[in-house]
Amino acid sequence: MTAAGKGAGTAPERDERPWQRALAEAVTDLDELLALVAVSRDEAGAAADDPFPLRVPRPFVDRMRRGDARDPLLRQVLPTRLEGECVPGYRADPLQEGAAARASGLLGKYEGRLLMLAAGACAVHCRYCFRRHFPYGEHRQGADFPALEGVRADPGVREVILSGGDPLMLRDARLAALVGEIERIEHVRRLRIHTRLPIVIPARVTAGLVDTLAATRLRVAVVVHANHANEIDGDCAAALGPLARFALLNQSVLLRGVNDSAGALIDLSERLFDAGVLPYYLHLPDAVAGTAHFGVGEAQGRDLHLRMQAALPGYLVPRLVRETPGLPAKELLSAEPASASGGLDGVTEWRRG
Ligand SMILES: *Cc1c(COP(=O)(O)O)cnc(C)c1O
Ligand code: SF4
Repeated sequence: MTAAGKGAGTAPERDERPWQRALAEAVTDLDELLALVAVSRDEAGAAADDPFPLRVPRPFVDRMRRGDARDPLLRQVLPTRLEGECVPGYRADPLQEGAAARASGLLGKYEGRLLMLAAGACAVHCRYCFRRHFPYGEHRQGADFPALEGVRADPGVREVILSGGDPLMLRDARLAALVGEIERIEHVRRLRIHTRLPIVIPARVTAGLVDTLAATRLRVAVVVHANHANEIDGDCAAALGPLARFALLNQSVLLRGVNDSAGALIDLSERLFDAGVLPYYLHLPDAVAGTAHFGVGEAQGRDLHLRMQAALPGYLVPRLVRETPGLPAKELLSAEPASASGGLDGVTEWRRG
């Protein structure tokens, strides 16, 4: 470790300065965001939202279309009046993650994998987020990562998933220390990082980060999170390049008004692959209070997924899933094209042809 990297409180390494600055300069004021994208409060249906405040980094704002209240990137981050609606069936913790907590900062739902809440904050606040009501304060990690006790104690754990919040909110030195602690646990073979940071602040992919992940004995998978092709501009694709030496995957959420068309989903898969990323999961949105207006039903989800299958090679079709508490894995909703019935003439013809 270099001298500058020793303490979490020291000045950032030189290549960390740009992303730290982008983080600090994120837009948090609704009127400023609306001015930047040239959309009025009325057009956008915008509303201030205190419990989960607006936060969006400027490199992400730069990819929004000016004057378009329906821009798919804007819609992901803009608080609207619709969030105040109380919709039956939508709850603060629909995934019952409270019940999955193994220890402070450690969730265990599936065999062989433990998910660590490595950081409580995110660079961007996504309005549809299933963890928007999550009590991060109860899961804060101290200096020596107490959550890892739960990993050490369970020899069945082969993979540690760093999630959050966003684990790449940690500075490189702290992340390197965490990876070092994990690789000392003999039974752990794989390290997975779930992060949206390389998408919203491409400068987060520093040489220091890539070096840390390249040096560990653990097999590494990086799972980024993009929902629309417009999120992957040139800077973002360039940042993803050095991560393609690891298993580099993407998960998306199917969101009404953002990516709920076959065209948008197909474009996203193709743009991801151009940037070296394979689609992994397409999640049906969870029933989280305040997010009902993003909802896409199961039937529509299956229909869109079939259209993707008809238009793309299999490796560019993400698995359509939903999270159902109590199941041993995420619930797979992908249908075989053969089971298509009605309304999908294009698909049927393609099968005959
Ligand atoms: C989603 C999730 C995982 C990862 O599931 P995979 O199917 O392996 O991607 C692991 N742990 C928890 C608690 C999760 O919510
Ligand atoms: S980056 Fe992920 S965890 Fe953070 S607000 Fe967005 S969806 Fe939620």
